[in-house]
Amino acid sequence: MPESRNIRRVAVIGGGTAGWMAAAALANALQHGVAIELIESDDIGTVGVGEATIPPIKLFNAQLGIDENDFLKCTYGSFKLGIEFVDWGWTGNRYFHPFGTFGADFDAVTLHHYWLRERQRGDTTPLSDYSMAWAAARANRFDKPTSDRRLVQSTMDYAYHFDASRYALYLRGYGEKRGVTRHEGKVATVEQDARGFVSAVQLEDGRRIEADLFIDCSGFRGLLIQGALDSGYDDWTHWLPCDRAVAVPCASSDDFTPYTRSTARDAGWQWRIPLQHRTGNGYVYASSFLDDDVAQATLLANLDGEALAEPRRLAFTTGRRKQFWNRNVVALGLASGFLEPLESTSIHLIQSGINRLLALWPDRDFDPLVAAEYNKLTAREFERVRDFIILHYKATTRADTPLWRHVAAMDIPDELANKIAHFAAHARVVADPGELFVNVSWLAVFLGQGIIPARYDPLADARNVDAPRLLSGLKRVIGEAADAMPTHRDYIARHCSSP
Ligand code: FAD
Repeated sequence: MPESRNIRRVAVIGGGTAGWMAAAALANALQHGVAIELIESDDIGTVGVGEATIPPIKLFNAQLGIDENDFLKCTYGSFKLGIEFVDWGWTGNRYFHPFGTFGADFDAVTLHHYWLRERQRGDTTPLSDYSMAWAAARANRFDKPTSDRRLVQSTMDYAYHFDASRYALYLRGYGEKRGVTRHEGKVATVEQDARGFVSAVQLEDGRRIEADLFIDCSGFRGLLIQGALDSGYDDWTHWLPCDRAVAVPCASSDDFTPYTRSTARDAGWQWRIPLQHRTGNGYVYASSFLDDDVAQATLLANLDGEALAEPRRLAFTTGRRKQFWNRNVVALGLASGFLEPLESTSIHLIQSGINRLLALWPDRDFDPLVAAEYNKLTAREFERVRDFIILHYKATTRADTPLWRHVAAMDIPDELANKIAHFAAHARVVADPGELFVNVSWLAVFLGQGIIPARYDPLADARNVDAPRLLSGLKRVIGEAADAMPTHRDYIARHCSSP
């Protein structure tokens, strides 16, 4: 029999959200024959600020067989039906990016075209009135969607807010139970063989850990992917100038929203994420337009409860690694790149990176074809998310501060320009199959920030659909369904209240 070239040892460098998500998912997928070790440094610590997610996280947890109520109890989690954007298109502008769809798929022509036609005829109902997620969210109500597609409750979706440090801890428990070995200590040296492959890492206290495959989850520093392998970085600051954040938790208020709020500020935006035991807040801003102390003072002046800790300052460069997978090192999480958390995508990018790695699981030959495929697909995913985030800045009519004047006037990637042009002219969202953000997300931001298409789909006029009747019926049943849901707080108290 030829010698097996299977991977026998994996070392995960870093124990933040990325490290423990990777270790837990690998422990679940690789049931025997592969040793998984994770190295993390208590001295260095984690970023610990990723608190909002998007619906696919449910799949990640489900793949691991995690019980939702147990996970929410342990992470002080709450539910998220979407994001409310305040003051983005213009000062006084408010809109909601819902999870789910606008209305039900009742026809070959999507609902927003009928809505647009009625709008042109004088109906002023906003499209969001046909969103189940928004109807529940604005009433601070929550219930699980149903799988019965005849009911409007099937048209919403949800994700979570949670305490990221506790999520990492939860996954650590999961991973260790399934055989992951944890080493606490600081990596001091990275050993490479003659081909430049990483062969081992040595900790400050002399311990040496060898592996076939290394997963770099060491955070912004990218200890292996950049420090050892110099994989390069595409800097996207010219499109997304925010490069700082200041974060602080505050006491919970009565406004326990089942959604994230993002409020545009003079040089960036502020997040508000309600958890069971506190509310997470942060101001993401551009240091070229705002002083750090002013950013911190602005954040502290805009909390809806007493601050519970010292504000934490973070610096980042938006962009991505030129190679996410280089030789026998795969970078995940902040080590792979960073996009500001405007649409809560970082944890999702970790999840899809892990899934892609498993789909392209290598052997010890590390065929460069495999890494090239991984890099191509991952780059594409980062770029699509990037473009969606840029849209929020570009589609503004604000001109009241230097940041907003800058982003309104800046050049944007061609593909995004094409998307905007199509929507503005024909009300169509042009997207590749497999894009993370689909119709509803783009529609919410386009329309929410005032891009109203000139035309609706001509197919709508060729259909025998009584749109006014359907739209008013939909609005009524959505309202009734929302009224019948428990409040967000009651739902949590009943099912997943933290100790
Ligand atoms: P880290 O948390 O930085 O972990 C790095 C790990 O590497 C640590 O365990 C550290 O000890 C270890 N390490 C580093 N160097 C060494 C060494 N030499 N030796 C040993 N160990 C080492 N994402 C979302 O999805 N939603 C959000 O709402 C969100 N909000 C965010 C807000 C801000 C301001 C920022 C900056 C990020 C946000 N993110 C969000 C991103 C999210 O926080 C990260 O993607 C996520 O926490 C993963 O981080 P990480 O594990 O890659 O890195």
